[in-house]
Amino acid sequence: MRVRFAPSPTGALHIGGARAALYNWLMARGSGGTMVLRIEDTDRERSTPENVEQILDALRWLQIDWDEGPISQVERSGRHEEVLQQLLDAGHAYRSTATGDDVKAYKAEHGADKGFRGTPEAEGAVRLRVPDEGATVVHDLVRGDTTFQHVHLDDPVIARADGTALYNFAVAVDDADAGITHVVRGEDHLSNTPKQLLVYVAMGVEPPQFAHLPLLHGPDGKKLSKRHGAASVQELRDAGYLPAAIRNYIALLGWGDTDDETLISTDELVRRFDVSRVSKNPAQFDEKKLRWMNGRYLRGLSLDELTAELEAFTGRTGLREAVAISREKIQTLADFWPLAGFIFDGPTDGDEKARAKWLTEEGRATLGAAHDALAALPAWDHPSIEAALQEVLEARELKPGALFQPIRVALAGTAVSPGIFETLTVLGREPSLERIAAAR
Ligand code: GLU
Repeated sequence: MRVRFAPSPTGALHIGGARAALYNWLMARGSGGTMVLRIEDTDRERSTPENVEQILDALRWLQIDWDEGPISQVERSGRHEEVLQQLLDAGHAYRSTATGDDVKAYKAEHGADKGFRGTPEAEGAVRLRVPDEGATVVHDLVRGDTTFQHVHLDDPVIARADGTALYNFAVAVDDADAGITHVVRGEDHLSNTPKQLLVYVAMGVEPPQFAHLPLLHGPDGKKLSKRHGAASVQELRDAGYLPAAIRNYIALLGWGDTDDETLISTDELVRRFDVSRVSKNPAQFDEKKLRWMNGRYLRGLSLDELTAELEAFTGRTGLREAVAISREKIQTLADFWPLAGFIFDGPTDGDEKARAKWLTEEGRATLGAAHDALAALPAWDHPSIEAALQEVLEARELKPGALFQPIRVALAGTAVSPGIFETLTVLGREPSLERIAAAR
């Protein structure tokens, strides 16, 4: 099996593109086959080296590797011209100076746009000669058969007058030369497929099998876009998702036999993935589910692994103890700093509401009692801290929140933090007492 991922470097790698890349990769790895990476950079205006780098980075980060490439489509233009000449010589293609309007006028009269073949011209764009009779059938592994009657097809333009190949021609030549056996890509390319199949026929090459993946929708049923939150792999990375969780989640998007909340390791995906079981209905990308799944992956990491991830993500060091007391409360790497950053950077001053609610006169008196009880401790450890605060609770007949929330606000500046005893323990005696004293 030889598959390929063929991104156009006109922007970031989007989630839909990442899914196509992943499905191809799973097929290659599951079959001992080959994954080819081709950069479809023929749109010279919008293709940039930065975009290429960004896409390669995103693939590497997702741990989707390739065996051949990246091959630049532009660099293959000599080969495209060569095949073009062969098709012209064999009469499978012809030049025509007809404009789009001429074509339309002719079609209105004759049906499909086939009127310019009788008078071969030396100049003009190159069109592929579509047989008058018969039909081209796209056998799609996801969608089944779609038949395109030749009488309804135009003779597609496959190269500009200057001989530069157009997209559908270049794709077919490149896939044929690379010996691609399966083309797996987004459904938006389905209408290109008959044209590409006709190029294969003209070249006399056996076409690959095709699988067109359904579009991704957001939870509201509309086409996935920025409105739904992160839409590119880079954005998911910045939002603190792990590559393994993303692979798991997007592998299951629209995959027929498994619901999208199943935790499956990449190894198992490689073993089980079967493109013919992809559903043809639009798949729903729901970032909430990805968040949930990512939380499961975070909890599957050892403390050392998670600390390494978080230190890389935040650019800080010395996080291990803070990670240990936060790990149950975070679903993404980005959740960590808002929850536990106060341990390092001091209480946030951004939460006026929490201060107003908990640092009342009564709250501050409670903090005074807590401060004295904690300051008297001979040892600063979790059991001692817990026992001391328990005594304060009982002596003052308080509900837990009436003691712990003021302490939280004193330590963190906000009423959300890891467990209070754990936080005091990790923060240490002096910083804890200082912060409580400052708030009381
Ligand atoms: N370059 C196309 C895209 O990025 C993919 C074409 C293909 O896979 O055949 O949408």
